[in-house]
Amino acid sequence: MELGIRGRTALVCAGSKGLGKGCALSLAREGVNIVVTARGAEALEATAAEIRKLGVRVTTVAGDITSAEGRAAALKACPSPDILVNNAGGPPPGDFREWDRDTWVKALDANMITPILLIRAVVDGMIERKFGRIVNITSGAVKNPIPELGLSNGARTGLTGFVAGLSRKTVRSNVTINNLLPGPFDTDRLRSNFRFNAEKSGKSYEELRKARADANPSGRFGTAEEFGDACAYLCSAQAGFITGQNLLMDGGAYPGTF
Ligand code: NAP
Repeated sequence: MELGIRGRTALVCAGSKGLGKGCALSLAREGVNIVVTARGAEALEATAAEIRKLGVRVTTVAGDITSAEGRAAALKACPSPDILVNNAGGPPPGDFREWDRDTWVKALDANMITPILLIRAVVDGMIERKFGRIVNITSGAVKNPIPELGLSNGARTGLTGFVAGLSRKTVRSNVTINNLLPGPFDTDRLRSNFRFNAEKSGKSYEELRKARADANPSGRFGTAEEFGDACAYLCSAQAGFITGQNLLMDGGAYPGTF
């Protein structure tokens, strides 16, 4: 299926590794030019080289997307994207009794306010041009909260509520806003969660990893490629009637009918 977005431009935030990288590669395979951000320049340049091999234009922006400077640099490099993929690292796990106000503000800044500010910066241009696709990488925890990830549960659900309202306003101009909710995907982020739980529980990393994969109905973790292809579809010309949705990709882990 040709997705009808060849020659478009995407700003992919936090895209040097993992799920963001998966999105950048899938969009590039569809002929989308990519502006990609991350803090670490080395992995960012390596990823950019991989994307370039797919024959599209690639611009890198090294910086922290959760800071005002990082967002300004990303928007300077890409002031009028056709596609925006919002992503950033997730907040750390822990016990809510240990989180003070600053910890909460940091999580809200990264996983709620940063994507909202980036949407604000680009959405009116998309509306004027009558095409826009915004995909926020959130978490399966929005639908199925994970107790030790309380910062993530809270901040991402705030973003989801905001998007639910705005996405109904923009769709008339062919600008859609949707969320992708990853369950367990085999990335650095998941591996660091296993390390945290291994230290806490006294079980080995491998033991926990195998048990988690076995416990998923699919018997495995998702791949960044699967995730990226779902993102590319939501960004396609054909997906203009899909907005305000939360697509859970968790191998069937969420047990509900809907
Ligand atoms: P990952 O493999 O650790 O990759 C994170 C990417 O984001 C890296 O490219 C990283 O590069 C970049 N990044 C992190 N913080 C950044 C910042 N402040 N500014 C700019 N770039 C930043 O993580 P992932 O698994 O792809 O996770 C992506 C998102 O999905 C996270 O929010 C995570 O919590 C969420 N999620 C993941 C899973 C899963 O199973 N993997 C499940 C649920 C939710 P630098 O470090 O160099 O900046």
